[in-house]
Amino acid sequence: MGKGISITWSEGIARRESRILVQTVDQVIKWLYFRHPMAFYDPPMPVRVFGNWVIPALMDDQPYWGNQWYIEQSYDRELDRVIAPQYLELVRREPWQRATDHYDLVMIDEDLTEFPAPLARARPDLYCLGTSLPGTAAIVSVHQVRRIADRADRERALARLVRHHLGHVLAVPSFGRTHAVVRRGLEMHCSNRCVMRHAVTLEDLIALSEDEAELGWTFCEACTQDLHSVIAANAFVWS
Ligand SMILES: [Zn+2]
Ligand SMILES: [Zn+2]
Repeated sequence: MGKGISITWSEGIARRESRILVQTVDQVIKWLYFRHPMAFYDPPMPVRVFGNWVIPALMDDQPYWGNQWYIEQSYDRELDRVIAPQYLELVRREPWQRATDHYDLVMIDEDLTEFPAPLARARPDLYCLGTSLPGTAAIVSVHQVRRIADRADRERALARLVRHHLGHVLAVPSFGRTHAVVRRGLEMHCSNRCVMRHAVTLEDLIALSEDEAELGWTFCEACTQDLHSVIAANAFVWS
């Protein structure tokens, strides 16, 4: 089996939000697959939906027993936020990654920070909508997105956030790309009119999702090519 995408979410995620997560990933993978030259003889990249998973046998005294374990381990009480670097590090080192190499995409309802705890405490005004370890895992939070009053606007912004982090987890834009890219820490961003443009604040996210609304397919030409390379690299594993 080739490298697939695992989708999980925390217990506070509403049904409507998890549906947006699953549908958005599904739409992107299907769009790419049906426009890929290898579509006729390779299966699409597998998407496995685990939701708010729990392994009851591990719950008493073992780590990695469920999605909430990762959140509890990386949650900072003082900040009332999940420390994303800690969360991503847990995913990187988890036994499930060693057992089956996969991409992890997770949605949480807790607020999120992309800084390590000491830095995050110094700047409590800086939240984060989502962050990633490109090629391995990405985490998105609905906490700030829920402030958007209008339902249609809120759902469009959330889908945009998911699409952006699906790009990150698949390491798009690719690290080798030299044109129309902006590097930000470990993450590559795109400078074209594209869903891989970075949104720091909720206001950025709303503005970008409005700007991209008319595009339909929101990955630019270069990012689409990068996505196809990832699909092709995984198709090679299957053959
Ligand atoms: Zn980003
Ligand atoms: Zn792009």
